[in-house]
Amino acid sequence: MSDMNDRAALITGASSGIGRATAHAFAANGAKVVLAARRQDELASLVSEIEAGGGKATAITTDVSAAKDVERMVAHAIEAYGRLDYAVNNAGIEGRWAGITELAEDEWDTVLNINLKGTFLCLKYEARAMLDCGHGGAIVNIGSVNSFLGFQTGSAYVASKHGMIGLTTSVSAELAPKGIRVNLLCPGFIDTPMHRRGRAILGDELYDKVLLSSVHLRRAGRPEEIARSIVFLCSDEASYITGTTLTPDGGFTLTI
Ligand code: NAP
Repeated sequence: MSDMNDRAALITGASSGIGRATAHAFAANGAKVVLAARRQDELASLVSEIEAGGGKATAITTDVSAAKDVERMVAHAIEAYGRLDYAVNNAGIEGRWAGITELAEDEWDTVLNINLKGTFLCLKYEARAMLDCGHGGAIVNIGSVNSFLGFQTGSAYVASKHGMIGLTTSVSAELAPKGIRVNLLCPGFIDTPMHRRGRAILGDELYDKVLLSSVHLRRAGRPEEIARSIVFLCSDEASYITGTTLTPDGGFTLTI
C-alpha cells in the first residue's frame, strides 16, 4: 500500500466497528487521523490506542446529521494537521426494523438524516476543505449491500443506502476534474456491534442459516478486512478509480 506519511484522514463513525478498524488501518499506513462520532469516551480510548502504536490521532465529537457539527469537524481536521487528504463517511445507523405501515415518520427521518443527509453534509465540507488545500483527495462513502438489495422491514435503511449511490456518482463527476476521487464501498455481513444487533433480533440459528446459505465465503467479514479495502480506495494504488462501487461481501450480492 502506498505511503500515507504526512497525509491526513478523517473517519466518521470511528468509535465502533468498521470505522474504528479503518482508523487503525490509516494510522498503520502512516496517516494522521481525525476521529469523529458522538461517543467521546470511545473516541478517547481509540486516540490512546493509536498513539500507543506510534500513530498520530485527534478526536472530535460530532453528530453527522447536524451541519454545524460537520463544519466544526472539518475545521478541526484542518486546525490539527493543516490539510485533509482522505475522508471516510462511515457513520450510520440501522434504525428499527419495522414494516411500512408501522414505521413512524420520526424513525424514517432519523435514519435518513444520519445516513444520507449526514453523508451529504460531510461531502460538502470535506470537498470545500480539500479544494482549499489544493492537494486533491479521496473520499469513500460507506454504503451497504443494501445499496442494491432491499429487505422486508428495512425500508428506511435501504432507501438511505440506495440514495448513497446517486449521491456518490453525482459528486464524483463534479469533483473528478478537480483532483478528488469519490467512491462507494458496500460491505456485506461484517462482524461489528451493528451486525450483532441484527443477529440478536433474528436469533443465532436463523442468522447463521441466512449467512451460511447466502455468503459464498461462508462467514461474516471482519472489520479489518473492510478497513483494508477502504484504505486501498483512498491510496494512490486506486488513482484511476472514481464514481464506482466496491462490494466486499464474501460473494453475497450478485451470485446464487
Ligand atoms: P457500528 O459498530 O454500529 O458503528 C456505527 C458508527 O456510526 C459508530 O461509530 C457510531 O458512533 C457512528 N454514528 C452513528 N450515528 C452517528 C451520528 N449521528 N453522528 C456521528 N456518528 C454516528 O456499525 P458498523 O457495522 O461499524 O457500521 C459502519 C457503517 O457500515 C454504517 O454506515 C453501516 O450502515 C455500514 N455497514 C455495516 C455492515 C455490517 O454488517 N456491519 C454492512 C453494510 C454496511 P456513535 O454512536 O459514537 O455516534
